[in-house]
Amino acid sequence: MHLRALPSASVASSSSFSSFATRAPGAKKKKMKNRRPFPTTRFPALMTRSAYGTSSTDGSWTENASNPFNDLISLARGKRDIVQAGESCLYERSMEVPLEDIESTEIQDLVSEMLAIVKGRGVGLAAPQIGVKKRVFVMEDTKEGMSDESEEERKSKKRVPFKAKAVINPVITPIGDASAAFMEGCLSVQGYRALVRRHLKVKLKGVAPDGKPIDVDLTGWPARIAQHEMDHLNGVLYVDRMEKRTLRRVDKVSAPVPTDRHEEFGTCPSVGEIATGGSYLSNKSAITGVDDIETLTKKSKNRRKRR
Ligand SMILES: [Zn+2]
Repeated sequence: MHLRALPSASVASSSSFSSFATRAPGAKKKKMKNRRPFPTTRFPALMTRSAYGTSSTDGSWTENASNPFNDLISLARGKRDIVQAGESCLYERSMEVPLEDIESTEIQDLVSEMLAIVKGRGVGLAAPQIGVKKRVFVMEDTKEGMSDESEEERKSKKRVPFKAKAVINPVITPIGDASAAFMEGCLSVQGYRALVRRHLKVKLKGVAPDGKPIDVDLTGWPARIAQHEMDHLNGVLYVDRMEKRTLRRVDKVSAPVPTDRHEEFGTCPSVGEIATGGSYLSNKSAITGVDDIETLTKKSKNRRKRR
């Protein structure tokens, strides 16, 4: 998942030129002989650089490349890249990983590869995004990753750093009715963002790569990341859940959402949290994933005891 709400770091804003444009009254005009000619047109658009990539002036988006060392490892193993919207694997339900396969080289390598790919490029990645239809996702959020957001933004989204986490056969259940609407993006839908309402709090269960059961309650941004990645395992992209009229190019992410009531699409929700309204997700089972997580985790415990 590539999540950015409000990029604040502009590498070339129009204010960069203001010192050239003004001169104190009466001051002598400086010699411009050896200087490059001053641009006669205004800078056409803001180029925005976030922790995970850069939008150019034409609005196209370039994700940061992953660590070159990791790239070499990936290459040696037959490099897999992040697939983009349109690939069939992004629209299909992924398969559960049999517990006895978790220790296998295939699954362990898959988790390592996914963690390497997502590092520095986003906050989450699901296996189908590299063409593997298995119920595995990874998530991580770092101080560096959120460094281009103000403290106020991070607080409003309840975004906090957390260590890399890999979850196999995840199950997510909402806790309470509170929800939050924020701009969301995806490494498989590069260059765009849209407002997506998600549960504010969820319970995440699953199995870790070491076979241990995972059972954590998540709130705010981590809860959003988990729900986004879970969606991938069910063949759902954030654009399936977005507020339609809020889709925008990444360089326009901080533009206001429409406030008028559209006769066909209604009114866009306001950005932020709301205390009630969990029923906005018509099909709740879509995010709960597998039904037998208790059995899965119980089996996992027994398996570890036997060792
Ligand atoms: Zn995604």
